[in-house]
Amino acid sequence: MSIDPAAETARWLATISPEDLERAVAYTRGGHWLLLWGAVVSIVVAWIIIRTGILSGIRDRMERRRKRPKLVSLVVGVVYLLMSWVLTLPWAIYQGWWRETQYGLTEQPLAGWLGEAALSTAISTVFAGLLIVGLYFIIRRARRLWWAWGAGLTAVAVVFMLIVSPILIEPLFNTYTPAPDGAMRDSVVELAQRTGTPDDKIFIYDGSKQSDRYTANVSGLFGSARVAMSDVMFAKGADLAEVRGVVGHEMGHYVHMHSLWMTGVLIVLAGLVFWLIDRLFPLAKRLLGANRVGDISDPAGLPVLAAIGAVIGLLLTPVTNTMIRVIESDADQFSLTHANEPDGLSKALIKTAEYRAPSPSAIEEILFYDHPSVENRIRMAMEWKATHPANAPAAAPAAAMPAR
Ligand SMILES: [Zn+2]
Repeated sequence: MSIDPAAETARWLATISPEDLERAVAYTRGGHWLLLWGAVVSIVVAWIIIRTGILSGIRDRMERRRKRPKLVSLVVGVVYLLMSWVLTLPWAIYQGWWRETQYGLTEQPLAGWLGEAALSTAISTVFAGLLIVGLYFIIRRARRLWWAWGAGLTAVAVVFMLIVSPILIEPLFNTYTPAPDGAMRDSVVELAQRTGTPDDKIFIYDGSKQSDRYTANVSGLFGSARVAMSDVMFAKGADLAEVRGVVGHEMGHYVHMHSLWMTGVLIVLAGLVFWLIDRLFPLAKRLLGANRVGDISDPAGLPVLAAIGAVIGLLLTPVTNTMIRVIESDADQFSLTHANEPDGLSKALIKTAEYRAPSPSAIEEILFYDHPSVENRIRMAMEWKATHPANAPAAAPAAAMPAR
């Protein structure tokens, strides 16, 4: 029996009720605007911090007491990070908690959300504080080529975070339990062995604590890599085909080393962003009225750097989104090739449509979508289904292959 991929795709999309679809579109489109408003908030916050003169005041006092430049950049950096967090908090609450609650995407109480926000800020302040010290050290030493060294520093920081995140950071927010024994685990282990993914690191975590999103992820690098599925998947009735489709996708990220590819691109982008910051610094300083800030090596100029970064980050959104879309599409292809669950994958994708409207226009997808649209992903799965026999010997186990 032959399959019509377009009709099959339409059939999947029709399983979303009109009300759910309308809400998903409102949530997704609103999210595009949040990108713009987020950049505006960052600029306003930078401007307010500059107006208070607190950073340049601290710098003056410390320099009068002949404190070392590293210490000055550390203290100014930490004060900046904390001020910035407090000033951005109302926006963060709106975006991260209130809006999610309104759309029924989280049941977390505000107190819980705030506690986790404070914890992650504490962690990132320590980490970013050290990075700031490193960055200003580089600016003072390397001068003209600081942006290139800065990109190198970013690479070290990103790889470090990738490695330690699943070991040291993620367990602070969620509980990760190995997938329980049973048919699902057996099937996932078999898939892992066939694809060369560590089969002892398949976890289920209590993602429902923070969000009702149907999701799974892969994180870590080298020995710390692991695949984790949110318990929301099972609360929303994930069956074996779905789990295989989703886990196959996550294994694709692992086997094709997508995080390393992303890191590589990120280093190039970081170099570009730092270079642009270097060029735009005098102009941005004037526009923000930062008269008490010296040249780019002055840590009191951090808000100026942040404001430029916010604008460039916004403009680069389509570039980073496109890069991630390519990777996501590759992971889908991996899932189809190795798990061969086009219907399982589609069923899972339909459940993600509540937070990613399924059928954006091409331009909307290019600009704003960090995953290919659900419609395009399902069509790819259905095209696969049309040309490949149903499960069983999808990718035959190596032992069954004729010897070459
Ligand atoms: Zn993915």
